[in-house]
Amino acid sequence: MEKIAIFPGSFDPFTVGHESIVRRATRLFDKIIIMIGHNTSKKSFFPLEKREKWINQIFADDENISVQTFEGLTVDFCKKVGAQYILRGLRTSADFEFERAIAQINKQMYPEIETVFLLTIPEHTPVNSTIVRDIILHGGDASRFLPKSLNMEEFKVSR
Ligand code: ADP
Repeated sequence: MEKIAIFPGSFDPFTVGHESIVRRATRLFDKIIIMIGHNTSKKSFFPLEKREKWINQIFADDENISVQTFEGLTVDFCKKVGAQYILRGLRTSADFEFERAIAQINKQMYPEIETVFLLTIPEHTPVNSTIVRDIILHGGDASRFLPKSLNMEEFKVSR
């Protein structure tokens, strides 16, 4: 059976930390679907269409990695696309505590699902979307935290 994993997140924006986790996971799964979770009542920094476009651009050369947007429970998305795995990245023990609760609840709601964690590479431990957003908002250079295939000009004018 084909091994399908979803990588859920808000990706506001998608960083080098996210990219690294997805690329490393291609050795474990046949297909990875990046799920941009959204909530119509919550405002994001970057529009959903841009976040989706950027992820498509980053993985344009890999037909086994795709992106979809979804509003709802992660386990419902897993059922919809036939995924057996949820992929998540771990940076710190704080991430672990947060992720543990989500993974255990998801397992209760959908026993067939397994959450697989990859530890971040050390240089990506401090990278998070909130800090990257702040740098961009204040006109700083966030390029080292964003995937190389993206056009940095778009981040200067994307608000
Ligand atoms: P969420 O809104 O669910 O926290 P994020 O977009 O912030 O979504 O992150 C999605 C996933 O990527 C989470 O598992 C998160 O722990 C992981 N992640 C975020 N930044 C990094 C990083 N620098 N290195 C490794 N994993 C990361």
